[in-house]
Amino acid sequence: MDRNYRLETLAVREGQVRSQFNEHSEALYLTSSFVFDSAAQAAARFAGEEEGNVYSRFTNPTVSVFQERLAALEGAEACVATSSGMSAILSLVMGLCSAGDHIVASTGLFGATQQLLGNIMTRFGVRTTFVAQTDNAAWEAAILPETRLFFLETPSNPLTEIADIAGLVAIAHAHGVIVAVDNCFCTPILQRPLDLGADLVVHSATKYLDGQGRVLGGAVAGPKKLTDEVLKFLRTAGPTLSAFNAWVLLKGLETLKIRMDAQSNGALELARWLEAHPKVARVYYPGLPSHPQFALAQRQQASGGGIISFEIKGARSEAWKVVDNCRLLSITANLGDTKTTLTHPASTTHGRITPEQRSAAGITEALLRVAVGLEAVVDLQNDLESGLTAI
Ligand SMILES: *Cc1c(COP(=O)(O)O)cnc(C)c1O
Repeated sequence: MDRNYRLETLAVREGQVRSQFNEHSEALYLTSSFVFDSAAQAAARFAGEEEGNVYSRFTNPTVSVFQERLAALEGAEACVATSSGMSAILSLVMGLCSAGDHIVASTGLFGATQQLLGNIMTRFGVRTTFVAQTDNAAWEAAILPETRLFFLETPSNPLTEIADIAGLVAIAHAHGVIVAVDNCFCTPILQRPLDLGADLVVHSATKYLDGQGRVLGGAVAGPKKLTDEVLKFLRTAGPTLSAFNAWVLLKGLETLKIRMDAQSNGALELARWLEAHPKVARVYYPGLPSHPQFALAQRQQASGGGIISFEIKGARSEAWKVVDNCRLLSITANLGDTKTTLTHPASTTHGRITPEQRSAAGITEALLRVAVGLEAVVDLQNDLESGLTAI
């Protein structure tokens, strides 16, 4: 399909292949394997001499449509889909790094990503140095001769710190280092890291790409030369996206643009309200002029996104009181859902990292995170007001 179409058009139509039945909606191919016309064709497919599906651990037509569509949205040559966001990050590291390689990543990464890079990968000889997301000089100073990868996530979770993608790309590329960006919070609707020079984009499709809290999924997008290395690991090790989940995610992508716009608008309104609230000490939201990197966020992102963090005046017991006195907001760690969620990061998503790592990441006991959904903002305000009044 012509990639010059706008994002909302690509999100609805890109990559569709119709079967002999000429179905309008994308078909769901629930099949583990595919049959061949002849022994010779089977041999050619297995040898990779002929294009075509062999086995759904390698490729599946429904998964392929999802990959094509997400690649188009990110402006990527190619995309490989995975069973979850974490398996996308694992597959990226396993595909592109070897024992002895070094990674530079930010201290504010998603908790499981920190565990994967900081603990698990070190057992296989891949070391990571964690630096402050917003300190470009620290990223540069951390580069070693064996540095292979910069891994960043912007805005960060939960403090919404913004990494300067173009600035970090310039530093990395001057040293022959690859840059991968976890684009989970913004999605290509709000931010396109490849346009800013990044080499790869990673997704937890579980979040906004699905958008309705139904399935797990992930993806790595970028030039085919790099995604092919990721695919080599994926098709052998097996953390492949299921056809069913790919089909659900395709339905999610169709409404991505209108959801991202509506959720960002709702978040901005709610962030302004929280900032004016007497029980709130501080609001972290890239769409507010009070955000330390407001100017960078304005340049790099189409809007502030759907996620707000805020510190209440108090400590853990007061933060939990807010959570326990909200009736509408869901107490869950998920984000990117049409249903607004409320999380206390220090005791949930970031509960397994050490208190030192938590404080290095700036996650206090008074911090709460709201991932704004599609409910009326006034209802969210009233619910949070009940929580805040209970302090
Ligand atoms: C949720 C999340 C992940 C992990 O994705 P899963 O689909 O849960 O494996 C990675 N990065 C970010 C920023 C996330 O929010």
